[in-house]
Amino acid sequence: MYTSNQFSLDTFPVGCMITDSKRRILYCNRYLEEYHGYSTDELLGADLFTLLSKASQIMYDTYLVPILVRERKCHEIRLCMVSHCNTALPIVVSILCDDSANGKFFWSISSARRSDRLFEELTETKQLLEQKVSLLRRISDTDQLTGLPNRTAMAKHLDQKIIEQKKDDMAFALAFVDLDGFKEVNDRYGHHVGDKVIQLVAKRLASNLRSDDVIARFGGDEFVIFLNGRFSARLVEESLSRLINKLAEPFEIDSVLLTLSASIGVTLYPQSKEVEPDHLIRQADQAMYQAKLSGKNQICLFNVDNEHVQQSKQSELSAIKAAMEANEFELYYQPKINMLTGRVLGVEALIRWNHPSEGLKAPVTFLPVLTNTSTGVALGRWVITSALRQLQTWLQQGLDVHVSVNIDGYHLQHSHFLHDLSNILADFPSLPKQRLELEVLETSTIEDVGHVYSVLNACRVMGIRISLDDFGTGYSSLSHLRDLSVDTLKIDRSFVQNMLTSTGDRAILKGVIGFARAFECDVVAEGVEALAHSQQLIEFGCECGQGYFIAHPMPAQDFPDWMDEWHQQGFKKKFNRNVI
Ligand code: C2E
Ligand code: CA
Ligand code: CA
Repeated sequence: MYTSNQFSLDTFPVGCMITDSKRRILYCNRYLEEYHGYSTDELLGADLFTLLSKASQIMYDTYLVPILVRERKCHEIRLCMVSHCNTALPIVVSILCDDSANGKFFWSISSARRSDRLFEELTETKQLLEQKVSLLRRISDTDQLTGLPNRTAMAKHLDQKIIEQKKDDMAFALAFVDLDGFKEVNDRYGHHVGDKVIQLVAKRLASNLRSDDVIARFGGDEFVIFLNGRFSARLVEESLSRLINKLAEPFEIDSVLLTLSASIGVTLYPQSKEVEPDHLIRQADQAMYQAKLSGKNQICLFNVDNEHVQQSKQSELSAIKAAMEANEFELYYQPKINMLTGRVLGVEALIRWNHPSEGLKAPVTFLPVLTNTSTGVALGRWVITSALRQLQTWLQQGLDVHVSVNIDGYHLQHSHFLHDLSNILADFPSLPKQRLELEVLETSTIEDVGHVYSVLNACRVMGIRISLDDFGTGYSSLSHLRDLSVDTLKIDRSFVQNMLTSTGDRAILKGVIGFARAFECDVVAEGVEALAHSQQLIEFGCECGQGYFIAHPMPAQDFPDWMDEWHQQGFKKKFNRNVI
């Protein structure tokens, strides 16, 4: 055990001090003497405040004394001591108040310099970090080539503006600018010149905007411009035309004069539905693409209504794709017969959709959306394959039958049509190809008659029969007939339906039948709904017919029984003649 005589407080490596309630210094150890430069003698009996800065004196009165009175102690309080030579020394003090000794205060005092230095260092590091972060942020928000804000910055700006819009009911337009023919500039003059063009374009665009507009470079030759304010379609086009005109003035780069144009797509905000910034950018981008398609160097306004149509079209297409995978499509077959002899010439395959909730759907409810789509082409391939498989089954069962399938104009014109057809046929090597007939639809949409002619010719060389469907409805069918060699004409059912009442339609019917004869092709009348139709058709020279009077389209499995019945009684019952 140590006794107090064996050591002194002077040897302690912290300052020790005792004061009384009147702030008089009663004791201080030598450590403190060294620390602040006062001699112990000088300090004994002196006012504590000679050692404290003004701020610490206030702190002592207003903060420390109340705590000490209440709690009898306080720990690690920062104060500032004033040294003998008047320099400020930061200190950390802990104070105990001893009751038994008439309210004396026992101080331990240590330097806060070290922690202060640490603090300063930390502050410096923090400032450096902040500078770095803001530099990084600037770099990540800035396009390096042009110094303009980049895609990230524009997305943030739009986020901000959309929030503001909700509060202040403001509006804006968003334009997507893409230079026309920039790739050629790059290819012809090199990337060095290309980069300069981009810089000059950026400058020219930026200098022709108002102060509250914002332009960003999205990469390559794409810029996006935020135009503040409420615009009508006319107003926004006017503002952007000015930009297009400015861009049309030549650029001089390394003594080369270059003229450029741009295609601009623009969309307006707010819209009737909530839209996210990246959705707005996509809209402007799509409109820009339209501007390119319509011949470049122009402005195209995004059509929101169009977008809804597109979206519902997309969802219909996905539903059809899913239905194909789920095997929900089925071919029904409708017989074509010779109305004089009763002979069954063949069946036409007609697609149906066994929809799980809507029931059996007719082609008119789902085919139009497929026009010019890859799903439409895929479904067309499925139709041909299924019809051939069915034909093969029937032939194996000993049925003497021909099958025709409907082919849309866009499918026929598809670059893979012949290739796909040959592949499908290769899967049915034993099938006589003469038993397959293609009914070509929508002949008026055929653009490249030369191409279609060679495709149909190739089909005929393979042995496949060709018929022109809905003949008489498309104004160009006659000219096609001259160019395309076909086996059969199918007279559209609209003429047949009105033939009993309309002399005009009767004249057309006679004319079509006459054409068929002149071009040496067969003719089949669609839509034979009554005996009277068939009688008049036969009179006009058209013996072949198809229609509800003969038979409705039916599932494949019903056809063999129908055929049996037809030969035994069906034809006789309806036409009052025996099958020859
Ligand atoms: P389309 O090629 O003119 O086929 C004849 C349509 O007339 C069929 O309608 C048939 O059910 C209907 N029909 C047959 N007889 C009569 C009748 O006596 N009176 C009346 N009012 N209608 C009759 P469906 O099956 O609804 O097909 C409509 C159209 O859809 C077809 O007209 C064809 O253009 C197209 N289509 C049908 N299946 C396919 C297919 O697999 N592929 C393609 N690309 N188109 C198809
Ligand atoms: Ca048809
Ligand atoms: Ca038709």
